[in-house]
Amino acid sequence: MDPNQQFIEYHQALMKLCHDKAFIQDTRRNKLSALTSLCASLLNVGRVSVWWLQSGGDDLESEILYQLGEGHNFDPNYLTRLGNPAYFDALMKARIIDARNARQDPRTQAFNDHYLIPTGIHAMLDAPIFDAGQLSGVICLEALEPRDWSLADISLATAIADTISLINTHEAWSQSQQQLDYVTHFDSLTGLPNLNSMRDRLHHITRQEAPFALLWIDLDRIKAINDGMGQMIGNQIIGEVANRLRHLSIPGKDKIARVGGDEFVMLIRRQTDESHLRHLTQSILNTLAAPMQLHDQLLAITASIGVSIWPADGQDSDTLLKHAEAAMYHAKEQGRGQAQLFNRSISADARSRFQLESQLREAIRNQQLDVHYQPIVRASDGHLMQLEALVRWNHPTHGLLPPIRFLDLARSAGLLPDLGMAVMHRACHHLRQAQQAGMNLPQLAINLAPEQLLDPLLPEQLKEVYEAYGLNGECFDFEVTEDVIKADTEILRNLLKQLVDMGSGLSIDDFGTGYSSLARLKHLPFAKLKIDRSFVKELPSDRDDCAITLSILGLARGLGMAVVAEGVETEDQERWLTEQGCDFLQGYRYSRPVPFDQLLMTVIKDAG
Ligand code: C2E
Ligand code: CA
Ligand code: CA
Repeated sequence: MDPNQQFIEYHQALMKLCHDKAFIQDTRRNKLSALTSLCASLLNVGRVSVWWLQSGGDDLESEILYQLGEGHNFDPNYLTRLGNPAYFDALMKARIIDARNARQDPRTQAFNDHYLIPTGIHAMLDAPIFDAGQLSGVICLEALEPRDWSLADISLATAIADTISLINTHEAWSQSQQQLDYVTHFDSLTGLPNLNSMRDRLHHITRQEAPFALLWIDLDRIKAINDGMGQMIGNQIIGEVANRLRHLSIPGKDKIARVGGDEFVMLIRRQTDESHLRHLTQSILNTLAAPMQLHDQLLAITASIGVSIWPADGQDSDTLLKHAEAAMYHAKEQGRGQAQLFNRSISADARSRFQLESQLREAIRNQQLDVHYQPIVRASDGHLMQLEALVRWNHPTHGLLPPIRFLDLARSAGLLPDLGMAVMHRACHHLRQAQQAGMNLPQLAINLAPEQLLDPLLPEQLKEVYEAYGLNGECFDFEVTEDVIKADTEILRNLLKQLVDMGSGLSIDDFGTGYSSLARLKHLPFAKLKIDRSFVKELPSDRDDCAITLSILGLARGLGMAVVAEGVETEDQERWLTEQGCDFLQGYRYSRPVPFDQLLMTVIKDAG
């Protein structure tokens, strides 16, 4: 057959298998079985096996062996470097081993007595498997007669090796995804579920029939303790409170979650009678008020509790949470160490999420949101490349609030598009101010919420803002999170293209945390990818994180994208990332996000 034709035929067969939905969703074993069978039948070889390097590269252990007529076998076999140094050397050079006559080939000769002769094998074709850029295993094809391996044969073997490597990467990814899932649903200090997890539970339980009560428990004066005795003591108290709540025995007790620094929510099924709830909350308050022994001191703390009842005080989980929290604030105002059931008069005046929401609406409208800036530097020489704009809310009574305190609220109130435009205005204002002071700031990186990208009018709105400030799209790089591109629609593609046409850059934010649709990334105009902080945190000591980061770097390179690592705090992280070819770095190591005035001062200082 025409070698080109052969080549195409092999690859079509492999693509057909890999793109098959059943294959994609299948178990690892079945995937490997399918790949080895396919390989054996296409190339007409008697045996195909997959091996992994162990003990720092001194052993090979087989995972699967497919033999014509005998099927698949998963019992491990071993090969040691000691017995077969020439083979290991060839493999370590990460070369394809194409032995026409394996019994005479210097690389494979050592296998003769114990392997090749007894099994009747004459020819071997071994292709290395790489994981995260490093040699990790090998796929071995063995034929019972001497054979000249064609270019098409070799190319198929390599393609199968790459497919196996992708399977590994994907598994590493979904594992880290599960860990992240834990992080997003559990609180690390107390091990209790968190607000997300409570919301899930509420969502579920509000679809059932039985009424339930929601208790919002807030510790009194924890801030004073933190300030006066240190965060460590504060954390110990919170841990002890979590323990006490966990061990309370109350009929109908369902889930307990830690929903804020010193705030807990408890769900109690069926026991919604008012006098019963009063009795119950009092007993919780008593339990918490019992003195706790912390090192050499005895400390007593009090708490305040707010209660809302489903369905009387709210139909959906968010309203119920809001109302329980509102009732808690009411209890606090009545004097600490008390409980309060929600009632309609509370919703009017309580310092609740409601209030915060309307304050946020006001703040957006009146341009009271501020933007702080964090440098993104070039890894090779520390040169300042970009400044990421990060929103801040200077709240009249709560002080300077980071986005984590109000973005959720803004999202659920549908305020994100407005918030986004307020940030754009503020950033443009700052750019102009810098220009007028004779300073040229680098490109600003702006976070765009998914909600903003759903609006086809966004480019038009941006253009208006640019015009108002005499700027243009080149001043900006827009960061969007992975989940945005999950919905790869014509409208989105169009919108992204318009942003690029206006001169702006596009980056994928928090890469690795979502379900990456790399295949789609290829078709979208992203020039940069930001590795999420959670992967950078344990670099370079955590092997999994290193592997994930390396594969992200490899994939980005393959797609021609630059990579930014977020959350770089230490010299070790910096060194490792730079050595691995990461292009840009961002994190506290270079600077925390700083207010505009302070930014100008550092720019002036550096220039002078
Ligand atoms: P992000 O886009 O991943 O922004 C980086 C966050 O990491 C910032 O938190 C920054 O302060 C923090 N960070 C930077 N370096 C380090 C480090 O070395 N260590 C640690 N532990 N943290 C570091 P920030 O400002 O609280 O922002 C949180 C998130 O809020 C942002 O995450 C972004 O998703 C969102 N956000 C911020 N501003 C805006 C905005 O204007 N619009 C929208 N839609 N979202 C925004
Ligand atoms: Ca960002
Ligand atoms: Ca990020």
